[in-house]
Amino acid sequence: MDVKSNGTKMYNLIEELYPICRSITGNGVRETLEIIKKIIPLDIHELPSNTDVFDWKIPKEWNIRDAYVKDPSGKKIIDFQKSNLHVLNYSTPINTKLSLSKLKNHLFTLPNFPEEIPYLTSYYKENWGFCLSHNQFSQLDEGMYEVFIDSTLEDGSLTYGELFLPGKNEDEILLTTYICHPSMCNDNLSGTSLLVYLAKKMLEEDLQYSYRFLFIPETIGAISWLSKNEKNLSKIKQGLVATCLGDKGNSTYKKSKFGNALIDKIVLEVLKKSSSPYNVIDFFPSGSDERQFSSPGINLKIGSLMRTPYGQFDEYHTSADNLSFMDSNCLDDSFKKYYQIIMSLEKQNSLSEESDEINFDSFSNEYNDSGIDNSKKYISLNPKCEPQLGKRGLYRMIGGQKDSDLDQMNMFWLLCFSDGNHSLKYIANRSNIEFGILEKTANLLCEKNLLQSIS
Ligand SMILES: [Zn+2]
Repeated sequence: MDVKSNGTKMYNLIEELYPICRSITGNGVRETLEIIKKIIPLDIHELPSNTDVFDWKIPKEWNIRDAYVKDPSGKKIIDFQKSNLHVLNYSTPINTKLSLSKLKNHLFTLPNFPEEIPYLTSYYKENWGFCLSHNQFSQLDEGMYEVFIDSTLEDGSLTYGELFLPGKNEDEILLTTYICHPSMCNDNLSGTSLLVYLAKKMLEEDLQYSYRFLFIPETIGAISWLSKNEKNLSKIKQGLVATCLGDKGNSTYKKSKFGNALIDKIVLEVLKKSSSPYNVIDFFPSGSDERQFSSPGINLKIGSLMRTPYGQFDEYHTSADNLSFMDSNCLDDSFKKYYQIIMSLEKQNSLSEESDEINFDSFSNEYNDSGIDNSKKYISLNPKCEPQLGKRGLYRMIGGQKDSDLDQMNMFWLLCFSDGNHSLKYIANRSNIEFGILEKTANLLCEKNLLQSIS
């Protein structure tokens, strides 16, 4: 008899996957999916580079074998073999010598967490770089440094894994996670290992509803999958994004964009019944792939059950999000909650309740001020997933602009809620962004043909 708890099995899988250098494409993803495939049957898909997926293109495939920096005495001081976080993810190849001052343009640290290596990426702007602790950075001597990155960035494909468990009813629940971070435990591998063992358990059961598990690279993988499966999206009635599930923090539920979908009600019931404290947060249009699944042209009812949310723990996107940050009891607790949610969904007579068809009203009462002109509305001209802001110069504009009002989050709020039903005032209230700033951002997005005023 297998006496290991699911938490222990999850921890062991995290341990096995931890050393692999993953990215949004490449052999690290394939290796990860092959390991998962030993536990659950997985369909592995490859989508070629340059394929159009909504507003995006699948990028070139990145692979890396080795990378290091040698100091003026020839000593290897930064070594990819010791931590894959040392390399800016998606770094182009390089083999050169350069002065410390020039090298510094390619070195990244976290002055506020001086002992940790940051995790950074440059997927859509070709660059190379190294990440290191700020303590190490501040001790570098003047002189010539040797830098070497043995990587390739060429046409290939984007890889993802999918498992479909058919039930008696073809209405589906989507359970999704991302497999694109290198050595990162809570933010990545905890969600992966949870969905692997949840699927394994559900494989043994006679299911009422159908379940679709996705192991995809974040953002571009979600956009690619949605673009390739658009015709079948109407079968997906509810879903969850699994991430950040192994730290010791309380369970946190990020509600679906709808706020009162069946999945929201069920997760809240499970959390209420558990004897431990929990937090509930409203949907916001950043974070993980819920932002793609909730874009106005997709509009799936997708929540996310986490423990401490991404960005809210100090270890986030640093070398401190490692195995010692994982707690197998907490992984086990997260697993139990997910399983209870599934069992509760299985008991429902239907997955699409009448009441959650047109259900923005519950928010409207909460967020709309009465007596204010709510007439100013927009529609997104690119409603299926997020538009790629970078290729429109909207990132550069943000960086180069003195007026920092027009930042990314303001754009995300407008793009996510501009479905013709929600006024600028509603979006301002719900996002806590000043009306004037949103209006300015909306004008910019209109200029860029991403929004259109309808009133
Ligand atoms: Zn992340």
